[in-house]
Amino acid sequence: MARVARDRGQAAARVETRLRGGNHRSGDIARASLAWWSALSRAGEIWWTRSGGPAAIAAGAARRTAELLRFARARSPFYRDAWRSLPSRDLALGALPVVGKRELMERFDDWVTDRGVTRRGVEAFLADRAHIGERYLGRFVVWKSSGSTGEPGIFVQDAAALATYDALLAVQLQSPALAGRYAWGLMGQGGRAALIAATGDHFASIASWQRVCRGSPWPNARAFSVMDPLPELVAALNDYQPAFLASYPTTLALLATEQRAGRLRIAPACIWSGGECLAPAMASAIERAFGGVVINEYGASECMSIAFSCREGWLHVNADWVVLEPVDREYRPTPPGEASHSVLLTNLANRIQPVIRYDLGDSVFASPRPCACGSPLPAVRAEGRHDDVLALRAKDGSIVRLSPLALSTVVEDATAGHRFQLVQTGPERIAVRLGADDPVERSAEWDAAEKALHAYLAHQSLGNVRLCLDEEAPVPDPRSGKLREVIAAVRA
Ligand SMILES: [Zn+2]
Repeated sequence: MARVARDRGQAAARVETRLRGGNHRSGDIARASLAWWSALSRAGEIWWTRSGGPAAIAAGAARRTAELLRFARARSPFYRDAWRSLPSRDLALGALPVVGKRELMERFDDWVTDRGVTRRGVEAFLADRAHIGERYLGRFVVWKSSGSTGEPGIFVQDAAALATYDALLAVQLQSPALAGRYAWGLMGQGGRAALIAATGDHFASIASWQRVCRGSPWPNARAFSVMDPLPELVAALNDYQPAFLASYPTTLALLATEQRAGRLRIAPACIWSGGECLAPAMASAIERAFGGVVINEYGASECMSIAFSCREGWLHVNADWVVLEPVDREYRPTPPGEASHSVLLTNLANRIQPVIRYDLGDSVFASPRPCACGSPLPAVRAEGRHDDVLALRAKDGSIVRLSPLALSTVVEDATAGHRFQLVQTGPERIAVRLGADDPVERSAEWDAAEKALHAYLAHQSLGNVRLCLDEEAPVPDPRSGKLREVIAAVRA
């Protein structure tokens, strides 16, 4: 199950990699950008490191961590202050203080490692929508978080970081399961790529997308708004016939429904999903509907590419470029096999705005065993703060808290991966909103969801909780356009 905090739709850089791949394939080397070569050489490096197994991956991460810490101390007044009492050399990552978005944003000008980058300057740049997709100071890609965590953030990425994110996806696309699909999409459908996202503001997804559209010699990349009425979106996609489709999982699930109903008629070879949770059941439903392979990416505004999903339903952390530390409330390490309270992120790829032991807020479950897929990278499941934990009242008056990840999984596994939304409307009451609009399908889904939820709730000593089918369809977040699947409108 893969999920990410809300503002994690960084679809377009992925498509950029594909476009560059197509460019290379055409043999038009003259048009290949320096950035492309940089991503290519980084992709080779990633492949080489990973072929050395877990020890080589850990060694690469350790070397990059040491370099990043030296750089941050030398160039970021914020980190220099924060680490003032620590030894002057050989800092251990685990000994460093945890940082959060609020304190970093308050000291933005000291946080960044280039004195030419200022919060005032970045905010002025972001204030003008005409700048969407342009580079700040001609060098940096900038985006802001959607603010749905309550803490607005502004994120600056340098060229090396962007090349790394692209390379990480390129390596993923070269996996045996995907390489053929990837090539077929480029050759068979002209490499047309469609991103469906919350357009019209400086979110990570659209900022990268515009970067692609402006910088790429390939005109066949187009962004579509997730806020458009569904029939319009379906008509536009039918007209466009993308080989690559990139969006949030819940949007992809909605489009899969349209495809199954015969209203949407596209044949993407590769489907990229990110920005939200994607349960294995939903991924299979999307793959069945379109006949293409789904790549799910766990990323964040603070690090666009944290992990990719595998066929076993796990996320494999890009551990050569990212350090993830699952922790409890007191920031003590959470052992594998237990769900963490939060996770600390260290991004080894981006130096302009170093993210070091940053409290990401996602709950992570690290697998205690190697993954059956054979990947040498650590396997995790992740759950963001996007959905609410429900606190329900049991028959004996005690309060039982339920993970939204668990609730989502129950419904997703019971239904065919359609959109849905669970809303706690009372201490012992949950309203269920279903996305299927065909009455027969809807009725069947309600029966299945009710039965599965009831069994799950009873197992949690919540057999007294009443479920009702809400007439309303699932309602996306009006600002981000993404769907919250589990909402606590009322708590016990
Ligand atoms: Zn795996």
